[in-house]
Amino acid sequence: MQEIEWSKLSFGYYPTAWNVRCYYRDGKWGEIEETQDTNISMHMAATCLHYGQEAFEGLKAFKGKDGKTRLFRVEENALRMNRSCEGIMMPEMPVELFTEMVTKVVKLNIDYLPPYESGASLYIRPLVIGTGPQVGVRPANEYLFIIFVTPVGPYFKDGFKPTPMAILRGYDRAAPLGTGTIKVGGNYAAGIKAGHIAHEKGYSAVLFLDAKEKKYIDECGPANFFGIKGNKYITPKSESILPSITNKSLMQVAKDLGMEVERRPIPVEELAEFDEAGACGTAAVISPILRIDDLDDNHSYVLAKEGEAGPVCTKLYNALRAIQYGDAEDKHGWVTIIE
Ligand SMILES: *Cc1c(COP(=O)(O)O)cnc(C)c1O
Repeated sequence: MQEIEWSKLSFGYYPTAWNVRCYYRDGKWGEIEETQDTNISMHMAATCLHYGQEAFEGLKAFKGKDGKTRLFRVEENALRMNRSCEGIMMPEMPVELFTEMVTKVVKLNIDYLPPYESGASLYIRPLVIGTGPQVGVRPANEYLFIIFVTPVGPYFKDGFKPTPMAILRGYDRAAPLGTGTIKVGGNYAAGIKAGHIAHEKGYSAVLFLDAKEKKYIDECGPANFFGIKGNKYITPKSESILPSITNKSLMQVAKDLGMEVERRPIPVEELAEFDEAGACGTAAVISPILRIDDLDDNHSYVLAKEGEAGPVCTKLYNALRAIQYGDAEDKHGWVTIIE
């Protein structure tokens, strides 16, 4: 295995040694299989290819200063994957199967777990796909659950820097009673064009508004939104956003730090009242927001006045990362030590 330059890794696919798989056939999940094959062979009429029967997860393993390997809130990911599967009629799996497969794939690829000092981590990507053939629109009768891992670099290579985001009123990501609350590939297909347009214009992401009224903030493509107003952490309540585990954790960390937490609809104009704001998710923990431009409304909201991450975003980010790497006490039992 060649030497990996941990600090140079980006958030991309870096090849690792093993992935683990489990097939659902005849109404039940089979044995866990280990393979070095990175390809999948399936019927061309598989439902994942035509009708989007696909759900995924994303979590990380961290190497601590003490040399131990930690998973962050793996059970939450297992439960959310089950909600996603239930939402698009795929079979749920026992939480123990999910956890066992995550643990196994991390141990098999332990040489790819970045060292503590690097600030990098091992990204874990579970996915379930409908592999059984159907031409009519019906759930498949066979499924494949795969987990692969890939080392990802420190998200903020040039420091914890705020980036600009855009509101594009001509695009929606998810409908109120649609699939926005579950982690399925279809939501990403719905948002990929708006994301591309935003990137072309120099923005890091799109901030989607609620699809029904276009009045409230939903979320930032693949990350939840939060704003800071004085001592308050405020995050949207909506029927079309994905319940981020990072956001859930930050709400608790904010409370632990003596802040007030509000989860409620956030009107777009309220952006003018926030002292700071951020996007949160597993990849970055927090991406501080520099400015939000409402492109169809010609309105601009500045959220990082000095161009630097604000003190509250910084404090929350450091507090959560410290728990993940084992530098701070795990008061809420979020961490699983696997080795
Ligand atoms: C995965 C995801 C997030 C972030 O969730 P985490 O559990 O914090 O990683 C936010 N929004 C969407 C749409 C997602 O798919």
